[in-house]
Amino acid sequence: MAVATQSYEEKTDIQKDITEMVRQFVDEQIIPNAEHYDHEDEFPEPIVEQMKELGLFGVTIPEEYGGMGLDLTTYTMIVEELSRGWISISGVVNTHFIGSYLLMKFGTDEQKDYFLPKMATGEIRAAFSLSEPEVGSDVQGIKASAKRDDDGNWILDGQKMWVTNGLRSGVVFALMKTDKDADPPHTGMTCFITEKVPGEHKNTGEYEGLEVPPQIKKMGYKGVESTELVYSGYKCAPDRILGGEEAGLGKGFAQMMDALEVGRVNVAARGVGIAQRALELALRYSQERKTFGKPIAQHQAIQFKLADMATKLEAARLVTLKAARMKDAGQRSDLEAGMAKLLASETGKEVVEDSFRIHGGYGYSKEYEIERLYREAPMLMIGEGTADIQRMIIGRRLLEEYKLRL
Ligand SMILES: Cc1cc2nc3c(=O)[nH]c(=O)nc-3n(C[C@H](O)[C@H](O)[C@H](O)COP(=O)(O)OP(=O)(O)OC[C@H]3O[C@@H](n4cnc5c(N)ncnc54)[C@H](O)[C@@H]3O)c2cc1C
Repeated sequence: MAVATQSYEEKTDIQKDITEMVRQFVDEQIIPNAEHYDHEDEFPEPIVEQMKELGLFGVTIPEEYGGMGLDLTTYTMIVEELSRGWISISGVVNTHFIGSYLLMKFGTDEQKDYFLPKMATGEIRAAFSLSEPEVGSDVQGIKASAKRDDDGNWILDGQKMWVTNGLRSGVVFALMKTDKDADPPHTGMTCFITEKVPGEHKNTGEYEGLEVPPQIKKMGYKGVESTELVYSGYKCAPDRILGGEEAGLGKGFAQMMDALEVGRVNVAARGVGIAQRALELALRYSQERKTFGKPIAQHQAIQFKLADMATKLEAARLVTLKAARMKDAGQRSDLEAGMAKLLASETGKEVVEDSFRIHGGYGYSKEYEIERLYREAPMLMIGEGTADIQRMIIGRRLLEEYKLRL
């Protein structure tokens, strides 16, 4: 057994400083106001403005473009803190983070110079669009398409669905079919960087042909909008193909799947954050509420529940950080990202449900925070690939790694 020479530290000094700063912001600005925004289904504009000032839209964007230049692991820790406060706030930054990842990894110099400085400050925010009314898990089945016009521009047509930040974003990374006969089909898909006017339902002028219907009404994850997007004759210059026309045409599926891998780690961090908050609420409530002459926390059944909640939460946090650290180290991490997303989203749901049970009847009341968490947790099981899609990824990778050579 190794002899410990220094104490175990999960975070570097920079990570400690930044997560403490975010936690304070969450405790002072987000938690006291989340109920209001949730109940009214209102976009939390003042909170988002403060997030811009704190630089939270540029966490992973390199310093040369005005961002903080931090890694995925640190970002993951920040997302956990934000989600502990209110999961919709992490929704405001998530698709933005995915958009900046796409640009940093695949964008041309011109695309990076044009978008990243404005994205680092939050002046414009990004959305990410794969899903359609008839397609979610089976991305290769998308129907929205782009055709090259005689003047060399691309004309986009089709309907997208479930676009988080669909209305207020200024740029949408949209996957389109550019070759319907491509075999395999994913080689005929391209990612277009489509600009629009933030907050505008019907774009005109240079962005004509992009409409944002009224937002979808949801059981939770309120405040941040989810919308459809309708492209009809929307014109996109060839230099707005991600990576440029020469390098990016037909590469959209691979680019988006790469981005989804980091997106999965991000959703896992949300599961950890919501579970952390649910545990805190359960620990507090169980010491305040009395039955049979003592606080319910003194009943062994409640203590066992708390113990299981904390244990599952810690396991989910560790696998999430492992997936982030492997990605930062440049290692293949699709297996770990899939495991993190699966475990942490299920943990988020289970820990929230246990906390809800501990709250008894009051958990059903809108006066209690756990009621909101109970409506929000299921969303984690869907976005960035459902639980069964994660199991497919994990299963395939296991069989690839442990293939019998017969
Ligand atoms: C709040 C919210 C925000 C979202 N934000 C975005 C966004 O910003 N951008 C975006 O592009 N999308 C977004 N989505 C869409 C999301 O990614 C999809 O809903 C998700 O991928 C599932 O697709 P689907 O809803 O079409 O379900 P389907 O693909 O129709 O799946 C239905 C069920 O069948 C199961 N299933 C499907 N295929 C298989 C299979 N091969 N084997 C076993 N089971 C299978 C699924 O696990 C699921 O249980 C969002 C969704 C929600 C709810």
